[in-house]
Formats: sequence, C-alpha cells, structure tokens
Amino acid sequence: MDLGIAGKSALVCAASKGLGRGCAMALAEEGVSVTITARTAADLERTAEEIRAATGVEVKVAPGDIATPKGRAAALEIAGQPDILVNNAGGPPPGNFRDWTRDDWIKALDANMLTGIELIKATVDTMIANKFGRIVNITSSSVKAPIDVLGLSNGARSGLTGFIAGVARTTVRDNVTINNLLPGPFDTDRLRGNFAYREQQGQGKADELAAAAAAAMPAGRFGTAEEFGKACAFLCSVHTGYVTGHNFLMDGGSYPGTF
Ligand code: NAP
Repeated sequence: MDLGIAGKSALVCAASKGLGRGCAMALAEEGVSVTITARTAADLERTAEEIRAATGVEVKVAPGDIATPKGRAAALEIAGQPDILVNNAGGPPPGNFRDWTRDDWIKALDANMLTGIELIKATVDTMIANKFGRIVNITSSSVKAPIDVLGLSNGARSGLTGFIAGVARTTVRDNVTINNLLPGPFDTDRLRGNFAYREQQGQGKADELAAAAAAAMPAGRFGTAEEFGKACAFLCSVHTGYVTGHNFLMDGGSYPGTF
C-alpha cells in the first residue's frame, strides 16, 4: 500500500533508539523527510546516518532534551513546521510511590504529558491551515492496564491521554488527526532496563526474567521497534483521516479484555 506521504516532513522525538527510531525509519521509508531528537548527540548522528543510508531521505538532527523548553525550541527550529509529529520521550523510572517526591512527579509530567502538549500547541494550527496533519503520541499499555512499579508512567501518560481525547475531536474536520500508540513489551533498551531493575530487586537474572516474560506473552515474544514503526507510519498516512482520538494497543495480545 502506498501511504501517500512521500515528500512530507516529520518531527520524531526521542528517536536515536528504540520505538522512536522505529517510527523515524518507517516514515523515512515512505519518503518522509525526518527531524529526529535525542539527548546523546553521537547516538543521534549515528541513527541519522543509518536512516539516510537506508532510505535516501533528508534526515536532520536536533540534539537536546525534548522535556525542556530549550530542547523543544531547538527541535522546532530545526524541523520547521512539520506535517507529522511523533511525540515521545524516555519513560520515568520504576519504583515505589512512597519514595517519589514532588520533583519526581514534575519530571514525569514534563516528559510524558506536558512536552507532548507543548509540541502539539506549537504545530497543530499550521497543520490545520494546511488541511493535513498527523500526530501520534507514544504512550504505554500502562494507560489501559497499569503496572504498579511504573506509577509515574501510569499517572503522567493517563493525563496526556485525557487531554488528547478532547483535542483530537477538534482538529479532524481539518484532516488533522491525533492518536496514541500504546506499546506493551517491545525489545528495546528501556524494556531491558526494567528487567535489570527486577534483578536489582533480587527477583532473578535479568536475561532469564526477560526470556520467561517473552515466552509468557500470548505472542510468545516481545514486539520489535520495526513493527511498531510500521504501525506509526500507517497512522500517519493519507488513509487515516477518519481515525482520531484512538488508543491503539500493541501488546502481542496481553490485554485480557474483550474490548
Ligand atoms: P529506549 O530504547 O530507551 O529509547 C529511548 C530514546 O529516547 C533514545 O533515543 C533516547 O536517547 C531518547 N530520549 C529519552 N529521553 C529523552 C529526552 N528527554 N529528550 C530527547 N530524547 C530522549 O526506549 P523505548 O523502549 O523506545 O521507549 C520509548 C517510550 O515508550 C518510553 O517513554 C517508554 O517508557 C515507552 N514504552 C516502552 C515500552 C517498551 O516495551 N519498550 C513499553 C511501554 C512504554 P537519549 O537517551 O540519548 O536522549
């Protein structure tokens, strides 16, 4: 299927690795020029080079912390006004809510709720004027099925989800859609970090815990960043102008409910 977005531009946040990288690569494969961000400039440049080599499209880099006003301003300056925005940032650390301070909560809200809202605010009106825009927010399956040790993530992402539910209905008339992609377990550094945390908690060896968790998935495996990216690219395509405000769960069948 031709996704119909060749020649468009995208800002993909937090995209030197993992799910963000998967989205940037998949969009570039469709002929979308991408601006990618991450805090570690060397990793970002390496990923940009890999995407250029694989696709031949223009890839710009915006090194910086997307959870800060400075990082967002730099990303927007380099990206210009994108046709496509993929909101993403690192997830908050796991832990026990009794240990979390107000500062820990503010950091989680900044990264996983307010940054996405700020970037939408900065880009959506141009998309509306252009009568085309696609915004995809990478959230988490924890929005639907909370994970106790990821309380900072459960809370902050649910806040973003509530905001999106309202605003997504106000932009679709102008062919600007806003949807959330909810990853369950995908095999990335972030996921491996969760198993390392469990090893520190004395629950076993990280590799063995990961293998057991993958085997216990209905799919019998973790997801890949490549398949996540393809789903993102489809949501950014010209074919999804009638789809907005949705929460698409990609969890290998883990969520046990009927709906
Ligand atoms: P990952 O493999 O650790 O990659 C994270 C990427 O984001 C890296 O490129 C990292 O580069 C960049 N990044 C992190 N914080 C940033 C910031 N403040 N500003 C700019 N770039 C930043 O993680 P992932 O698995 O792809 O996860 C992506 C998001 O999905 C996270 O929010 C995660 O919590 C969520 N999620 C993941 C899973 C999963 O199973 N993988 C499941 C549910 C939810 P730098 O470190 O150099 O900045």
